[in-house]
Amino acid sequence: MKKHNFSAGPCILPESVLKQASEAVLNFDNLDLSLIEISHRSKNVVAVMDEAQVLVKDLLNLPEGYSALFLQGGASLEFLMVPYNLMKQGGKAAYLETGAWAKKARQEAEAFGDVVVVGNSSDKNYNYIPKGYEVPSDADYFHSTSNNTIYGTQMKSFPETGNALNVCDMSSDIFSRQLDFSKFDLIYAGAQKNMGPAGTTLVVVKDEILGKTGRNIPTMLDYNTHIAKESMFNTPPVFAFYVSMLTLRWLKENGGIDWIEGINNQKADLLYGEIDRNPLFVGTAATEDRSNMNACFLLNDETKKDRFEQMLKDGGINGLNGHRSVGGYRASMYNALPLSSVEALVEIMREFERTA
Ligand SMILES: *Cc1c(COP(=O)(O)O)cnc(C)c1O
Repeated sequence: MKKHNFSAGPCILPESVLKQASEAVLNFDNLDLSLIEISHRSKNVVAVMDEAQVLVKDLLNLPEGYSALFLQGGASLEFLMVPYNLMKQGGKAAYLETGAWAKKARQEAEAFGDVVVVGNSSDKNYNYIPKGYEVPSDADYFHSTSNNTIYGTQMKSFPETGNALNVCDMSSDIFSRQLDFSKFDLIYAGAQKNMGPAGTTLVVVKDEILGKTGRNIPTMLDYNTHIAKESMFNTPPVFAFYVSMLTLRWLKENGGIDWIEGINNQKADLLYGEIDRNPLFVGTAATEDRSNMNACFLLNDETKKDRFEQMLKDGGINGLNGHRSVGGYRASMYNALPLSSVEALVEIMREFERTA
């Protein structure tokens, strides 16, 4: 039996994608060569990069004027590339601090200029999204984190940012729900949460916002370098963007974000319904801010822990441990997780109640 993979990241990918990826490692495009042993400048690999970029813009329904880049260094490198490329000399940036990743992003920006934290939910271990804040009109940009992977909270709405550019870390929910993506000037996402293997980071950026800081930016950290060379300034992470492209193709062929959002809603409704109904469990995130990607919950009675965890193991449930800063359990329900896996988890939770 294949396991039900609730891992928070790296995470589950569609089975058909894994199959195609493994075939390409042995024999790519019937070239009788492996995908990972040929030049990234070969026509077939360049075609993969081109298709990946087209799929990103198509799925996000972006107008002209955006570039889609596949970079390295993880979302964590974007924490510093964003201020490097967008904060003016002596400038100012606004950050919404909704979790450990948001905090790390904010800390990197502090090396570049003045940083204002417009909202911060650390007082309650980031279990809610701050509301009612305003983005200062003199900020160069506003930075938010759309889904807080560790705490299971998700932004359901985004503020108007006025003159400030709108920047978002969407690492753990990009391509999972419809948003007006054209309202953002820069979006970034590590591939390994909802798109592909670790090793590449998607950056979607509006071209016209770049080159305006007056800073001297090191070549590799300058988005314009990568735009000019179509993400092939140096050797790109070929396998990582190939698998990401296959996942995006899978998404598009099945009906795009509208299709997956419906399934993601069903999965989240089913699991949160059970967490709220079952007296043995309690959710940790504020109800109105609950994430459809990562559902965090605790046992009401810790003495039953061993029995519950044995049942999870027997039921083939993988990756349900909560992050060490929250404890308990975290069910990550990224795009490729089938509804049947959530049904299997919920059945175990019911059985646990019946036999407690
Ligand atoms: C995992 C994660 C990161 C860090 O990603 P890396 O690619 O490991 O650097 C940043 N932001 C969010 C929201 C994440 O979930």
